Amino acid sequence: MPIDPKLPYDENNIFAKILRGELPCNKIYEDDHALAFHDIRPQAPVHVLVIPKGAYVSWDDFTAKAPDGEIAAFMRAVGNVTRQLELDGPGYRLMVNMGGAGHQEVPHLHVHIFGGRQFFQMIA
Ligand code: ADP
Repeated sequence: MPIDPKLPYDENNIFAKILRGELPCNKIYEDDHALAFHDIRPQAPVHVLVIPKGAYVSWDDFTAKAPDGEIAAFMRAVGNVTRQLELDGPGYRLMVNMGGAGHQEVPHLHVHIFGGRQFFQMIA
């Protein structure tokens, strides 16, 4: 079920539990601001999620409330992950689902990284 992005942050969402170490994940990257792990239901040969360590419901919440430095660090982390995965040569696709219309299901901001195959022209 897509989330209501206007609800307050839910400390019991799946990614909050992963951040607290209460649920396992297949971690591939971590720094002071971000954690990256393989998606449990991959939609491409490479499907990784990058999440900020701060408690942000969505892209909208993050870009409205996070300090500039935290936003910059998170963007850098996403780039670090794509380079670590050696996707910078062949290329890749980033996606953020936001709220109900965007079909966001987990109420903690996450950037999807898709790679490992050719993607086609985006048709929303
Ligand atoms: P959608 O499900 O419509 O893609 P989201 O953008 O909220 O909505 O994506 C949530 C993603 O989180 C999904 O790709 C799902 O497979 C993934 N996911 C859910 N639970 C876990 C988990 N425990 N570990 C890794 N990925 C997970």
